[in-house]
Amino acid sequence: MRLDVVTIFPEYLEPLNVSLVGKARARGRLDVQVHDLRTWAYDRHNTVDDTPYGGGPGMVMKTEPWGDALDTVLADGYEQGASGPALVVPTPSGRPFTQALAQELSEQPWLIFTPARYEGIDRRVVDEYATRMPVYEVSIGDYVLAGGEAAVLVITEAVARLLPGVLGNAESHRDDSFAPGGMANLLEGPVYTKPPEWRGRGIPPVLLSGHHGKIARWRRDEALRRTTANRPDLVERLDPGTFDKYDREM
Ligand code: SAM
Repeated sequence: MRLDVVTIFPEYLEPLNVSLVGKARARGRLDVQVHDLRTWAYDRHNTVDDTPYGGGPGMVMKTEPWGDALDTVLADGYEQGASGPALVVPTPSGRPFTQALAQELSEQPWLIFTPARYEGIDRRVVDEYATRMPVYEVSIGDYVLAGGEAAVLVITEAVARLLPGVLGNAESHRDDSFAPGGMANLLEGPVYTKPPEWRGRGIPPVLLSGHHGKIARWRRDEALRRTTANRPDLVERLDPGTFDKYDREM
């Protein structure tokens, strides 16, 4: 998968060199290119923003640097053999970023991120590229960040761990919170590791029983308990057909 990020703060994306995403890059599963938007600014002050039409506070990112940047990124990518680009526009007014959306993005061959600053990017930029490729306007939560770079880090990490060959154990995300299938959109319950006792606290005996059926049942009960406590909205949205007889007894 190829990822391009156009930003006025390339250094903000340095974490893409470490941990899981860094390893995915080192293994050739991810090709990440970070570009400085100011390369495509016009004047000697490298201006990329201007006052909003209609008045109001704040500044708006200008069309021309974004248009030239995206045209160049696209041309370079095609020249290097990439195909099927999709634009990912982080914005608090986008669709909520979910595990299902992470899965959808992980199936794209080429994502181009446009993290903005100020009051966002002149709308014409998104409208222009939407005529040429899928555009995902994505919000990572109901709050407002100063810029979209942190959102790019969040989205990239969630997407990268779904790529084949990136996680050491391909099964690792099967039982994750929100995973389709496995836990059927429940939050994951508590997890434990050695030692068996710590500060007088043991671990649930069922986990030592070696009885796979009972362990699976316990995990599902804990997932239901945690989801009911922390995200009752998720429980309400579950298909009633997904509950089994033991769930209903809880
Ligand atoms: N005035 C804009 C609004 O209310 O929708 C907020 C602009 S915000 C200060 C600047 C940039 O940060 C946004 O254009 C976007 O790139 C990014 N951003 C802020 N909050 C975000 C969120 N919850 N999800 C994704 N990106 C976000």
